Amino acid sequence: MSARVCMKTPLAEIDGDEMTRILWALVKEKLILPFVDLKTDYYDLSLQNRGATGDEVTVEAARAIRRLGVGVKCATITANAARKAEYSLDELYPSPNATIRAILDGTVFRRPIPVSVVKPSVSTWKKPIVIGRHAYGDVYRAAEMSVRGPGKVELVFTPADKNGKEERVQVADMKGPGVVQGMHNLDESIRNFARACFLYAVDQKLPIWFSSKDTISKTYDGRFKEIFGEIYETEFKDQCEKAGVKYFYTLIDDAVARVVKSEGGFLWACKNYDGDVMSDMIAGASGSLAMMTSVLVSPSGVFEYEAAHGTVQQHYDRYRAGEKTSTNPSALIFAWTGALAKRAELDGIPELGAFAKRLEGASLAAIEEGDMTGDLARLAVPAPARPLDSQEFLDAVARRL
Ligand code: NAP
Ligand code: MG
Repeated sequence: MSARVCMKTPLAEIDGDEMTRILWALVKEKLILPFVDLKTDYYDLSLQNRGATGDEVTVEAARAIRRLGVGVKCATITANAARKAEYSLDELYPSPNATIRAILDGTVFRRPIPVSVVKPSVSTWKKPIVIGRHAYGDVYRAAEMSVRGPGKVELVFTPADKNGKEERVQVADMKGPGVVQGMHNLDESIRNFARACFLYAVDQKLPIWFSSKDTISKTYDGRFKEIFGEIYETEFKDQCEKAGVKYFYTLIDDAVARVVKSEGGFLWACKNYDGDVMSDMIAGASGSLAMMTSVLVSPSGVFEYEAAHGTVQQHYDRYRAGEKTSTNPSALIFAWTGALAKRAELDGIPELGAFAKRLEGASLAAIEEGDMTGDLARLAVPAPARPLDSQEFLDAVARRL
């Protein structure tokens, strides 16, 4: 074998849970370590280790991404009541992704990985639809409570400036018990969200859509619409016109109706919750959750690459019972190639960038030539003779590498 490709700066490597943790190790062993003299700063974000460190490891991982510039992350469990019992946890720590995104701020871009053997379930889609998801605030950093009621619920703003005036607005006059939620966003974060989306659109020469519900939420969503418009007019109009990139604002419900009739091939900038939901819709309709890449682009210029799917718990249960599973590692592979290619670009190592391209090419070639896992085998035309298990698929990619 020829010499392995060298790296300069390490990647922040963030390991995770369950089936994706198993695949993570296999992807490295079979597809990366034989070819790359891999340098990483390793953070173990397994639920056990998050528990053991009082979740300190998650904060350290986010700081490492910020320090090193590029991170690659495995899927992690977001603990809930069932997981608390399953893993004997003392506490329910917040979603690691939410913690990391809160520290890095930024926008998550999710892009389907198209393969010719799997047609999207929306027959008009010819090109991938990229989701740009604002990754700060809204319901992900909300305060909630259930109230016994009856009683009044208010929003109160107490200015830090002692001379400032307190402001109050009534949320509801509750006639009985119920639930309440308060959420926020910051102008600066929305501006950075808009900038990241316009930069991505210009870079990829994609039309950009932005949607919200400003007819109903006149102040909150109205602010998003206003800031997007301002950033376009003052910072990106010329660049967009030069690149032939059109900016289009519409209501979220209108956007949804248009998306399912479109040909695709655009960036859809979404508020945090819309992006969470719509990226799963796009991934599902594009074929498989495992055929979607995800990158967090922070305004400070750091990048975190991950798979868009979760830890694939149901496959892990079967794996633990001794079964071979046909879990698709493509999104994990593309998380690694995305991170390595970005490191190559930043450090000026063309061989590393070329390796990342080769690995992507080998993964796609395997699928196109009929070597695929069950999630794709179910949908592929022509159908393969049989679906491969995860190990066989990784070997099929390694052979082509
Ligand atoms: P999931 O892991 O995305 O899996 C949902 C279903 O999608 C699977 O049961 C499987 O369907 C299919 N699937 C997903 N990835 C696949 C792959 N690589 N290959 C083949 N099929 C795949 O979602 P979940 O089961 O709801 O969540 C499990 C855990 O992941 C939860 O604890 C959640 O908190 C966490 N999560 C983490 C992240 C993240 O870290 N980024 C994101 C989402 C969820 P079939 O069973 O039909 O084969
Ligand atoms: Mg989601």
